[in-house]
Amino acid sequence: MSRARVVFLPCDGIGPEVAREAQLVLEQLAPGVEIEEHLLGGAAIRATGNPLPPETVDACLAATAVLKGPVGDPEFDAKDVRPEQGLLGLRGALDTYANLRPAVLGEVDMLIVRELVGGLYFGAKGTREDGTVFDTCEYHPRQVERIVRRGFELARARRKKLTSVDKANVLETSRLWRRVVDELAPRYPDVEYEHMLVDNAAMQLHSNPEQFDVLVTENMFGDILSDLAAAVTGGLGMAPSASLSDGGPGLFEPVHGSAPDIAGSGAANPVAMLRSTALLLEHGLGLPDEAAALTAAIEAALQTTKTPDLGGSATTSELGAAVRAQLPVDAAATVS
Ligand code: NAD
Repeated sequence: MSRARVVFLPCDGIGPEVAREAQLVLEQLAPGVEIEEHLLGGAAIRATGNPLPPETVDACLAATAVLKGPVGDPEFDAKDVRPEQGLLGLRGALDTYANLRPAVLGEVDMLIVRELVGGLYFGAKGTREDGTVFDTCEYHPRQVERIVRRGFELARARRKKLTSVDKANVLETSRLWRRVVDELAPRYPDVEYEHMLVDNAAMQLHSNPEQFDVLVTENMFGDILSDLAAAVTGGLGMAPSASLSDGGPGLFEPVHGSAPDIAGSGAANPVAMLRSTALLLEHGLGLPDEAAALTAAIEAALQTTKTPDLGGSATTSELGAAVRAQLPVDAAATVS
């Protein structure tokens, strides 16, 4: 059997700073795993002119899993070629349609399941002759089915409650979404499900987040709601994500962006990246014990060591070192 291989994409802004901590943890916990670094986003544009170089796509497609930092750099804001195009292209190439975003704090324990390769971000866009600019939101029933099925299955493995979020009072794609949920629901009789309009979901997430178990929703609604969920459970610096396909390599990345306002200052919180590494260990490499050891080490380290976004004064590398110090000495996996 060949060695497990993780493609590592540090990317932009605070990306390399938090990715460094993830690499050190991965080397300590899973020394048998091969780590191969590639370019994506602004870093790739600077080196090659392309936010998603073909070598990066090939390496990711051939990998066991992909660990990615955030993309984005204000330098490219007004340009035609932008870092974010590389990320969308990579998600499309890997067909990582199921984006899992856990949000946990005290009584709150929810999982947002966001459709990641369809909807407004992938539909036709352009400018008409009269100057009108448009983006279109399209979904095929099959695209909805596969993500809703994931939502039901994940709910089944948790507290058995699924909230499907849409805007069916206004949007055709949402009416399709709601119909598919109703059609699939009888196959999961043990899961209690409900529909919720996205505006109400935003309010409920803020005022009563304890009610949620699994939320399943389309791409843009999920993008916005998961940042809100991150805000009510400790902030963007704490929120990880896993993006899964059917059988191909998964893409693991923090929810936050490249935080250009604090890049280079040592103030970035590495927890979102480290929790993404825990998701990679569990879902990408099949190492649940190592994932649990890392999750516990993060919680223990946070008792004494906090970065400025959490009200402390520790640097990125100090919090990373505190996490590594909490890892049990015998936790390293023997992965072939
Ligand atoms: P952002 O998440 O980068 O930052 C929002 C705020 O949260 C900032 O004040 C930042 O300092 C803070 N923050 C974020 N992560 C933090 C961390 N780990 N530790 C401490 N503070 C943290 O969002 P933005 O400013 O809207 O976007 C900046 C760039 O990131 C843009 O180019 C955007 O396109 C890109 N972006 C990329 C991704 C991705 O790669 N998946 C996701 C979101 C945004």
